[in-house]
Formats: sequence, structure tokens, C-alpha cells
Amino acid sequence: MTTPKDLFANNRRWARQVTEADPGFFKGLAGQQKPKFLWIGCSDSRVPANEIVGLRPGEVFVHRNVANLVIHTDINCLSVLQFAVDILAVEHVIVCGHYGCGGVQAAVEDQRHGLIDNWLRHIRDVQQRHAAALAKTKGKPAMLRRLCELNVAEQVQNLANTTTVQDAWRRRQKLTLHGWVYDLRDGLLRDLRVPPKKVR
Ligand SMILES: [Zn+2]
Repeated sequence: MTTPKDLFANNRRWARQVTEADPGFFKGLAGQQKPKFLWIGCSDSRVPANEIVGLRPGEVFVHRNVANLVIHTDINCLSVLQFAVDILAVEHVIVCGHYGCGGVQAAVEDQRHGLIDNWLRHIRDVQQRHAAALAKTKGKPAMLRRLCELNVAEQVQNLANTTTVQDAWRRRQKLTLHGWVYDLRDGLLRDLRVPPKKVR
């Protein structure tokens, strides 16, 4: 079984390997970060942002929460977004959901999970908003997959509606929003091509 002590051993090995390959790597990064991407993804341990898109430390600014939600009262997510757009000047914001999302599944079940049910309520809202489209899917697995996609699309629109993104576009800052979904079964990403409406 992996213990916290093992994590330190892993860390020392990793730092040594990185330094061997690029002796100036950590010194260079310690000075500044200039990521081009902000990743808003699910907390799920199977969807590690840097790893699945092959980016190194310093290349992607990351915010993760259960079911990759962008909520207009979530000061945590909004602060990450504002800092990434206004200060770091990232050029792309990616909302990445994933099929097989436990948060999405829990949201549609009639079962209590505790405090998190209030968070998952946002997904139920998405489900209700798209009830007609979801009713056309065949079977529960297909419905859940579609809901994962619709949830990403909704969060991309939520992003577009934030003051941070609206203001960035108003001052013509280069900023593109993306909605992607990751498949746990084959490790591949899919672009959902869900361009947000600029004004809503
Ligand atoms: Zn998830």
C-alpha cells in the first residue's frame, strides 16, 4: 500500500530526474509562471490535468472541483478565473468534464450524500433544463454521458457570462473558451465544440 512516506520518496526521484534532464528547470520556474491555459476540471483522481494533455509544471493553471462546475457565487473558482485572465493573461480557458463522472451520476440519483448534494444540485438543474434532449437518449448510460456533455456546455456558458470574461472580451483580450470531455475508458479527449453565446 502506498503511504505518505512513499510520496516523499517519489517526489525526490521525480525532482532528481527532472533536474538531470534540465538542470535549470526549477530555477527558471521559480522566477515566474506564464501558462497559456486555465483548466477547470473535475476533482476525480482519474483525470489529472497536466498528465492527460502532456503539459509540464508551469504550463497550465488549474482549478478542479466535483463535476467541473462554474458557479457564479463560487468565490474560489471566480478568483482563479480572474487571476488567470487578468494577471496571467491565459489565452484559453478549458472546461473539461469526463464520462463516468461520479458527481454527475450522484446528482441524478435519489439518494442523500450529505452537504455535497447542494453542490450537485447545479447538475440537477442542468438535467431539468435539458430534460427533452435527455429523454431522447437510449438507456441510462447514454443519458449520463449526454448529461456530462451538457454539463460542460452549461459551464462554458457560465464562464462566458462572468464579469471577468465579459470584461476581457470587451477590451479585446485574446481569450477563447473550450468545452472538452475526457473518456476514462480510452484516455482520449474530445472537443465538444460548444462556443458560448457572447451575451446572454
Ligand atoms: Zn467527475
